[in-house]
Amino acid sequence: MNERVGLGFDVHRLEEGRPCILGGVTIDHPTGPAGHSDGDAVLHAIIDALTGAAGLDDVGTMFPDTDETWKGADSARLLEAVVERVGDAGFQIGNVDVVIATEGPRIAPMRASMRERIGALLRVDAGAINVKGKTLEGLGALAEGLGGAVQAICLLRESG
Ligand code: MG
Repeated sequence: MNERVGLGFDVHRLEEGRPCILGGVTIDHPTGPAGHSDGDAVLHAIIDALTGAAGLDDVGTMFPDTDETWKGADSARLLEAVVERVGDAGFQIGNVDVVIATEGPRIAPMRASMRERIGALLRVDAGAINVKGKTLEGLGALAEGLGGAVQAICLLRESG
């Protein structure tokens, strides 16, 4: 069976007064990711992992921030569109693993709900999704709570 891996990465600033939506889950936090869309860096990194593995365009090409269509967009809708395209390209999603590096919202209490939500969006069991939070050991701008960086990796299998 043909298997392919894909890697995604995203960084967003965290700004006061923005809703804090990560992994499709709204978190009670005074800052949230800035962006043309809702700024959900977790879903954006997952999109790039999926499109990378499937040989499709990346998130910025599919949903350019110069296009008013995507202003304030719910990234869950973008991910669902990508899942559709990945399926059309002949792939099934095996698993997705995510690392969120931030000193902003605490990730650990949100892990279970992120796994459920991402699994639902990808139409796979939550057990096929993992999410980990990392702190930044006081190093750099991200460590001052000014942003968050996300890495995502996925495995796709060619549909039989
Ligand atoms: Mg992004």
